[in-house]
Amino acid sequence: MYTTIHDLPDHQAIEPTRIEGFFDELLQSHENEIDEIVANSQARPSWDNLMLSLEALDVALNDAWAPISHLNSVVSNPDLRAAHDNSIKKITAYETRIGQSRPLYDAVRQLTEKTTFAALNPSQQKMVTDSLKAFQRNGVALNETDRKRFQELRAKLTELSSQFANNVLDATDAWTKHVTDIALLEGIPAPSVAVAKETAQRRDLAGYLLTLDMACYASTMTHCRNRALREEMYEAYATRASDQGPSAGEYDNSHIVVEMLNARTELAELVGFDNFAEYSIDPKMATSANEVKVFLDGLVSRAAPQARQEIERMREFARTEWGIDELEPWDLSFLTERMRESLYDVADAELKPYFPLNVVERGMFEVVGALFDVEIAAKDAPAAWHDDVRYFEITRRGETIARFYLDAFAREKKRGGAWMADCRSRRSIGNEMALPVAYLTCNFTPPTKGQPSLLTHTEVVTLFHEFGHGLHHMLTQQKYATLAGINGVEWDAVELPSQFMENWCWQEASLRKISSHFETGEALPKELLHRLIAAKNLNSGMAMLRQLEFGLLDIELHTQLKDFDPIATMRSIRSRTGMMPHKDYDRMPLGFGHIFAGGYAAGYYSYLWAEVLSADAFAAFEEEGLQNPQTSERFLREILEVGSSVKAIDMFKKFRGRAPQNDALLRHAGIQN
Ligand SMILES: [Zn+2]
Repeated sequence: MYTTIHDLPDHQAIEPTRIEGFFDELLQSHENEIDEIVANSQARPSWDNLMLSLEALDVALNDAWAPISHLNSVVSNPDLRAAHDNSIKKITAYETRIGQSRPLYDAVRQLTEKTTFAALNPSQQKMVTDSLKAFQRNGVALNETDRKRFQELRAKLTELSSQFANNVLDATDAWTKHVTDIALLEGIPAPSVAVAKETAQRRDLAGYLLTLDMACYASTMTHCRNRALREEMYEAYATRASDQGPSAGEYDNSHIVVEMLNARTELAELVGFDNFAEYSIDPKMATSANEVKVFLDGLVSRAAPQARQEIERMREFARTEWGIDELEPWDLSFLTERMRESLYDVADAELKPYFPLNVVERGMFEVVGALFDVEIAAKDAPAAWHDDVRYFEITRRGETIARFYLDAFAREKKRGGAWMADCRSRRSIGNEMALPVAYLTCNFTPPTKGQPSLLTHTEVVTLFHEFGHGLHHMLTQQKYATLAGINGVEWDAVELPSQFMENWCWQEASLRKISSHFETGEALPKELLHRLIAAKNLNSGMAMLRQLEFGLLDIELHTQLKDFDPIATMRSIRSRTGMMPHKDYDRMPLGFGHIFAGGYAAGYYSYLWAEVLSADAFAAFEEEGLQNPQTSERFLREILEVGSSVKAIDMFKKFRGRAPQNDALLRHAGIQN
């Protein structure tokens, strides 16, 4: 049996001026230790002297770095940021060196020798295989010449990717629209208009300045009644960083993306893959590019018929309500929103009173407690970084199994959005067990004098989502940090628990627990819930088709081997999926940051892939009973507890009794075919 380690970072004792020196020393001592590990294991590498020793170094680095990275996100200041930025460069360089170390690779490879490997348990075997794969993907196993070429291609891709991003950024900044007559902005919500006014003031202009900044663009396209203005803005956006539109040729990414696709193909071939998609997919849950294509095509054939009906309905609505005869791309968001208003009329203001944060939180803990046999209780927050921070312990039958911090409210110097981060991973050290600890961060509206913090329904969903990541991290039963919680989980499966948890925000039974009007105490009325669901699913076929177009474009481009022409590829996909209006000047691929400047190359499909997994997992509860203890126990044991000790597909099959199917996702999205 293990004794529990209770140490937590002392967030108040962190001094920005000492951070860099601390990490310099730590990294140096790690490098020395790695030399020793290699030397010791050269004669006879073993699980203990190699894998466990390496993991101990990882854990030490993560334990030290997690609070720094966290504080920099939530209570940043210039000194902390500088220390953070300088240190992370050194840490990245250190990790790159380790990841490319031939002696380490050779040592790990010796563990795959027959009798040695057979003596390891399945979790240990997976850790060894995963580690070897990672080395090979880094080109470590190549001969000297190829290895050099591999590193060149990597460096080139990093460079091209940053040029790509800069072009998109510059093209985005290059376009502005100065508006002096507020009547032109009719329909745009007041807060967005206020931002446009501030933007104008900052540049010493009267009136309003519209930009292609995402918030401004989305708000205008969704709400601005002036169709000509929407068209102008749409054209500017759809032609960013291309040979078309208002800044044609100035920030053109046409050649950069082709160069990137060529370099990626060469890189993948060097390490033995047929194309870049296969290289990208190899460590993921999907097994091949072909499987991904079949997956996406399958969804196209299911979503397209409904999308066709939706667009017909929208054409009708456009004609009768707005006098628009020919539907154009710049009408789609606008009309969807108008249809939503006229059909379902659910405003945030109507919903928020039902969701005071303390009620949502208590209800969520109750739902989770009943599902996974745990209790969640607030404790005094030890050494927290801000007065808003609260701290909780998760216990099972009296025994503490995990802990987390919750920093719920928006404030200055805090990064926007919501996320879960790892503070401590679960792992055993000798006969001691370190418990997992999570940071949960949100940006909800703080309470005011007369009113508690009230959440929109979207924010409630966000809280459940992040808590799902948290549960994955905290309810794990793995004893190696490398395999614990979300660590090492296939990239396209890691959203399963988080998206799974979102489902409880749409169920009547759980809504009774998580909603209570802050003045009347009434739970969210059934009728309002039904309107909310209908509003969510309005034009869901069209929305899914759009995601599918992105996914198909990504996978097509990364399975081709030469003569890349992203625009032609986009058009051919649209001719297959297409019923939506498009313009000849559309150069979307040249601004497709997810795949050319983000981590999503040959991975865009994962959004829908993970949704299929989470919807199908939730469908097991729908079939067997939402409160069926056997189902939730199975979800806990086969999914939440296993971390990356088993492959995602095996874990899913064990829970579901079969491979994933996409019916539940389509049904939840209101797609009927
Ligand atoms: Zn997530």
